Amino acid sequence: MQLLSQAGHALPADAPQGTLPWLQAVIDGLCDLSSRDALTGLSNRRQFELAIAREIDRVARAGEPALVLMIDIDHFKRINDTHGHAAGDEVIRSIGQALVDCVRPMDTVARFGGEEFAVILPNCPPAFGLTVAERIRLKVQRRSITVAQGVDVAVTISIGGAFAPQWVRSSATLWIERADQQLYRAKAEGRNRACLEQPVVSQVSAEEKGLLFGHSQYQDIE
Ligand code: GH3
Ligand code: MG
Ligand code: MG
Repeated sequence: MQLLSQAGHALPADAPQGTLPWLQAVIDGLCDLSSRDALTGLSNRRQFELAIAREIDRVARAGEPALVLMIDIDHFKRINDTHGHAAGDEVIRSIGQALVDCVRPMDTVARFGGEEFAVILPNCPPAFGLTVAERIRLKVQRRSITVAQGVDVAVTISIGGAFAPQWVRSSATLWIERADQQLYRAKAEGRNRACLEQPVVSQVSAEEKGLLFGHSQYQDIE
């Protein structure tokens, strides 16, 4: 049996049961440290990779539509150059919070690297993809970020998005790559915009879904 911490993280098999409360708090703190980005408190890259692997599994099993968004702050170097690195850090923190404010608790918001973020939106119908991405883009555009006393800045973001192919076990690398291509397109087309790949609709009939998840057709012959 796998032991779980109070935060739901897996504990080593030899962890004592009925752990003391203070030890439990230490364990939970360490689990949190290993999954959170120190600057923003968002999921870190490692946690993102676990979440996207879980999502790929769900899409393959249940055929649920899922969207991944790759997000990059526009002309971020200018912020660092004009206001300093600490101001840049404050902008990254604030944008991270804006992203969290725009999505559902079930969605994963991660700091992917430097001033790049990634969002996984499980069960996101293709018709809503652009609406969500635009909501995020506008929320950031309207945000005023205080980086020093009396100094407010505003930034924009570019967003690229791609849906996981339904009923297919994709790879995280390929899925992220497709979203990244859309992000490059958003940058090339002038920044401060969201570009989403046209979702590929898998033509899987009800009968075929039954074959995928029912008993093997060969069992009848055995
Ligand atoms: P573009 O619109 O093409 O994205 O232009 P950009 O200036 O944002 O270019 P790019 O995305 O390449 O900029 C990344 C910069 O982010 C370079 C790096 O110095 C800065 N950066 C990366 N990580 C951090 C960080 O943790 N804090 C701060 N303050 N700056 C960071
Ligand atoms: Mg970048
Ligand atoms: Mg950038």
